[in-house]
Amino acid sequence: MIPTFADDAHPVVDRLSRYLNQSRDGSDRVINLQSITDIRQALDLETHVRTGGLTGDTLISFVDTYLDYTTRLHHPRYMAHQVGVPHPAGAVAALIDGLTNNPMAIYEMGPGAAAIEFFVINYLLAKIGWQPMPEQVTQRLSHDHGGGVLTHGGSLANMTALLAARNHLDPSIRETGDTRDLVILAPESSHYIIAKAAGIIGIGERNVVHLPTDRLGRIIPEGMDAVYRDTRSKKKQIVALVANGCATGTGLYDPIDWIADFCRDRQIWYHIDGAHGACALFSRKMRPLMTGIEKADSVVLDAHKMLRTPALCAALLLKDARHLDLAFEHTASYLFHDKFQPGFDFIQQTVECTKAGLGLKFYFSLAALGETGMENYLDQACRLTREAYEYIRAQKDFSCPYVPESNILCFRINGPDALQIRIRDRLIEQGSFHISSTMLNGLRHLRIVIISPATTREDITHLIQCIKGIAAQHA
Ligand SMILES: *Cc1c(COP(=O)(O)O)cnc(C)c1O
Repeated sequence: MIPTFADDAHPVVDRLSRYLNQSRDGSDRVINLQSITDIRQALDLETHVRTGGLTGDTLISFVDTYLDYTTRLHHPRYMAHQVGVPHPAGAVAALIDGLTNNPMAIYEMGPGAAAIEFFVINYLLAKIGWQPMPEQVTQRLSHDHGGGVLTHGGSLANMTALLAARNHLDPSIRETGDTRDLVILAPESSHYIIAKAAGIIGIGERNVVHLPTDRLGRIIPEGMDAVYRDTRSKKKQIVALVANGCATGTGLYDPIDWIADFCRDRQIWYHIDGAHGACALFSRKMRPLMTGIEKADSVVLDAHKMLRTPALCAALLLKDARHLDLAFEHTASYLFHDKFQPGFDFIQQTVECTKAGLGLKFYFSLAALGETGMENYLDQACRLTREAYEYIRAQKDFSCPYVPESNILCFRINGPDALQIRIRDRLIEQGSFHISSTMLNGLRHLRIVIISPATTREDITHLIQCIKGIAAQHA
């Protein structure tokens, strides 16, 4: 008998459930970094393709082996990157989306998924303080409201924001491709996607003009006007000013409100890259870091970072829906024509054509936790990061260059840059801790992102012990 979907899915769900518990209790390695060849052989990748029938018992044993080679995000000692630790409800949503496969960018291909995306966008617009979109699409023509779309990742969302800003500055560019004299203003600490996007949308990586920052990469008011006047005197046109809310490396926020006024006075499109940090909208304690966010023109927020959502689900939000409506206008006679339309086609708002039901994963995670549960999670992560800071900076031979504002902390142990790298490599090799590393103020730092709800103070003290041990071996 050929196993049915349920026959295969039930035992896999059982395995995943056990995996989740094992990850949370921290008994296994957090990471198991082996070579491609070893993994190909362990999983017997060629054979299954040749023979088919990856189902039943074969499938179960395949899944067991596969899980051995995962990086366990629910593990208390996973502290490396800003990839969300999914709430199990989000994983259920991913399963539903995987099977139903409703690419909802045109409404008829997923009315349920599209309605949820519409709801999620409106929910986030309201959190910022912007007008939600009317559910009656005909009323959209009045355009007196915000807009937005969910995309496959914050990179695409940021690029789309810059594209909307570019087309707002000069609507003819879309057709002519003439992007001479355009610049983007951003701090050097902005995510690399800003430069990459500048290259992709024809502005050029070299035309990202760096804003003045302090030694931690935060935008400072002093010198801002000089940069502005210098660009104008060179007859450059400013597409947008990008601020970090917060910066990827440090988790520190630019002065969001001050920059808002700076942009308003000079009529510059204000974009906030909140891929990581706009989660502050969900916590009353963190919200002040985002004061003034409603004065921005566009904001990016990744639900798959701090909002417990499986990858991917990024939101691009705009104060004025018109700017996104005008960013893309295309004709595809098989998609765009008069039709019975009780909903909304997000396809006109985005680079993607086929687009997964991203809203479902975010919605399930948020609705399972509830707003209070989400707030508690965020507050706990930030509190623990602050405690880690107090603990680490009190250690002999350790330094922390700043008080953390979110859940990202950088520190280093006295010694050369190579020692920091060696420590990280060794921890990963042991599978004991997964941490990351970044350059800051010209020095290599170790970096932790407290994101797993299972992480405790003891994990931090244990980490520092392990680091001291490795450093002693390399002294
Ligand atoms: C993670 C991140 C991005 C990129 O988002 P992806 O979802 O990984 O594509 C952009 N900007 C900032 C500030 C980020 O933290």
